[in-house]
Amino acid sequence: MSYFSDLHLAEPILRALAEKGYTDPTPIQRQSIPSLIEGRDLLGLAQTGTGKTAAFALPSLHRLAMSPKPRKAASCRMLVLSPTRELAAQIADNMKFYAKHLPLSIQCIFGGVPAPKQARALVGGTDILVATPGRLLDLIDQRALTLRDVEIFVLDEADQMMDLGFIHALKRVARLLPPGRQSLFFSATMPQDIEALGRQFINDPVKVEVAPQSTTAERVEQTAILVNQAEKQALLTIKLREGLASGEIDRTLVFSRTKHGSDRIVRFLTTAGVEAAAIHGDKSQAQRTAALKGFREGRIKVLIATDIAARGIDVTGVSHVYNFDIPNVAEQYVHRIGRTGRAGAAGIAISFVSDEERPYLRAIERLTGVKLAVKPLPDDFLKEAARLPAPAKRGLANPALGGGERKPQGERRRDGGRGGEGRGDTRGGRGGENRGGRGGEQRRSNDRRPSAGRGTPRDGERSTSQRDHDRARAERRQAERPSGPRFDPLRDASGDERRDRQGRR
Ligand code: AMP
Repeated sequence: MSYFSDLHLAEPILRALAEKGYTDPTPIQRQSIPSLIEGRDLLGLAQTGTGKTAAFALPSLHRLAMSPKPRKAASCRMLVLSPTRELAAQIADNMKFYAKHLPLSIQCIFGGVPAPKQARALVGGTDILVATPGRLLDLIDQRALTLRDVEIFVLDEADQMMDLGFIHALKRVARLLPPGRQSLFFSATMPQDIEALGRQFINDPVKVEVAPQSTTAERVEQTAILVNQAEKQALLTIKLREGLASGEIDRTLVFSRTKHGSDRIVRFLTTAGVEAAAIHGDKSQAQRTAALKGFREGRIKVLIATDIAARGIDVTGVSHVYNFDIPNVAEQYVHRIGRTGRAGAAGIAISFVSDEERPYLRAIERLTGVKLAVKPLPDDFLKEAARLPAPAKRGLANPALGGGERKPQGERRRDGGRGGEGRGDTRGGRGGENRGGRGGEQRRSNDRRPSAGRGTPRDGERSTSQRDHDRARAERRQAERPSGPRFDPLRDASGDERRDRQGRR
């Protein structure tokens, strides 16, 4: 079966697919659609970029269209749960496109925007509802929504849901769903706790697995550059300037582990004449939407993102992914580089690896089974760096640039020399956002942490941005406190989502 037309989907769906230019189903679509049309439950081990949205959307639309029912007040026939607002909005947009020739209504609700308007939109009921868990439960509590008529339930990115601490919210949703519905459960990884969660939703599922967690997209060329932490700013600036000027870079995502790290990257790039925007949880919804729109439309070529904010972002034409900081949870690397090389296009992923981050690189290589090619710093790196405006070369340990003697990467651990600014984000191995982002599930991330990565504070060169450093240190301390209030990095999520993570029932 190599064409959509072989899959027995309703004609209006095939028409929409043809308009989108999709003729061949992707492997996950080929494997899932026939069983889903029959009404089977599904356990899907797949990451974004595989075509999984259409894999669950197309057969679901088909089933809803084949058994039309009048809408019921404050009710929905299909519920899709997504961990982040961006992903929810993207799923809803995709579904609206696939359903454009069908008389089915699709609503999308998420935190961070006023709830009353969303409640009003649900008064007459909707056929399909795409939601984040916090806002969903809020609207249920306000009696603006009931789940008793759900016929199809989709839980997307279950591992990310767990990482964000949505476990109690999901258990509550499981209790509210009617028996007899069809359930689809997707996750990019399937450790035991996720599997246990899945068992609460699915019954005798068809199992579909594409691009297992440990395989990174083959079409992504992956390299690492060993670079002192303090030199990363200059290196990124030089790389982006070159790539944009030559046209080699079409659009690039730059990953930072922390929110203030992302802002700092935007600042030094901007002063060096490289236009960039950041997307993370301290930005308002309007700012995030504007940054994504600019990036999608190609007006912004460089988008700096934290892992959580970028999760699920589907923008075609992302030619490069730069890991300014190496992710400290190896699976995040797979998600990050999955942003490039999507849907058949080739992509390039370049990771900047400092001495302190080497254990994370090894953990990534163990997980993916791919040894990253290590590239040297560009020729004349220091000379070029010296020409950059001050913020971009800040922290460079070079006499000509106002610092101490430059130590070749790899020797710094022995002599204790450390770059300045980056310390705030990488020392100790766990920057703010990822760490606390795992909320109630912090144990999981600790389990995955390579032990050698826990560097201890050392005196070295002083940061040129002591304020940033102190702030990062305060965040780290807060997050590492064994009890008491946790550092809540997930200001990425709305207030209602945060309450879920705190165990609201
Ligand atoms: P997803 O994994 O759902 O995020 O999809 C990844 C990308 O592949 C999205 O841009 C989809 O629009 C695109 N896509 C999904 N199905 C197909 C298909 N059968 N042919 C070509 N592109 C597709």
